[in-house]
Amino acid sequence: MHFGDFELIALSDGTLRLDGGAMFGIVPKPLWEKRAPADDRNRIRLGMRPLLVRGKKTMIIDAGIGGKLDAKSAAIYGVDRTRHLDHALADAGVARADIDLVLASHLRFDHAGGFTVRDDDGTLRPAFANARYVVRQGEWEDATHPHERNRASYLQENFAPLAAAGVLDLVAGDETIMPGVRVVRTGGHTMHHQIVMIESGGRTAVFAADLMPTTAHADLPWIMSYDLYPMDTLAFKRTFLREAIERNYLIFFEHDPDIAAGYLRESNGRVYVEPVGI
Ligand SMILES: [Zn+2]
Repeated sequence: MHFGDFELIALSDGTLRLDGGAMFGIVPKPLWEKRAPADDRNRIRLGMRPLLVRGKKTMIIDAGIGGKLDAKSAAIYGVDRTRHLDHALADAGVARADIDLVLASHLRFDHAGGFTVRDDDGTLRPAFANARYVVRQGEWEDATHPHERNRASYLQENFAPLAAAGVLDLVAGDETIMPGVRVVRTGGHTMHHQIVMIESGGRTAVFAADLMPTTAHADLPWIMSYDLYPMDTLAFKRTFLREAIERNYLIFFEHDPDIAAGYLRESNGRVYVEPVGI
């Protein structure tokens, strides 16, 4: 999709399944299962959609779960990578070596798994050979010093090799990553979780990452139990929803299984998503 000076392509690294209750926090199952049906293990199907941004540079935001997960974890999370990131990149006519920048919303495994690959001899290396990797400093600190509540999602194999290879660029604040692309800290999901604003020709597109992982999360109280600071999610979302509706932001939903992007609309006090075909 052309977006001002950019080309934006929603990629896919396949799907995974996470506990529906955890995905919707305090929302009772009779309500959420209408939007996201649960399987026999109470899991719902989720997409993993990194965003390819082609502008002055070629950038990918997040990189999916990647191929390093062991069989047991892959079964628990119902990972289906029959079609994965390499297929999506090939469809887009982009080679891994063409990527100049890899930008992380945060470093949990379903977003950063694809940042590194394991060679046959077990060596870990960056998955994008010519790229600089851009990570928020606070997120880096948290991911490399995990505690009991986030340890299972911060797998060191996904990001430690980046520092070792000298390809890591840490950003301290809400900085411009390349012309027209800037990051904004949301907090909430993790203390330093960030979204990405892409601005061109008076329009704004937003990679919402885990602030609003699916279109079902457009409702204010629909907040994941995975969020470490849910009240921060609520506060940011309240302001952001208003802004997104008023300014007609195009939102990319990283985990929605069916809808890659859309506009937030409001009718009779209810916020909903008008999908766009891309
Ligand atoms: Zn996620």
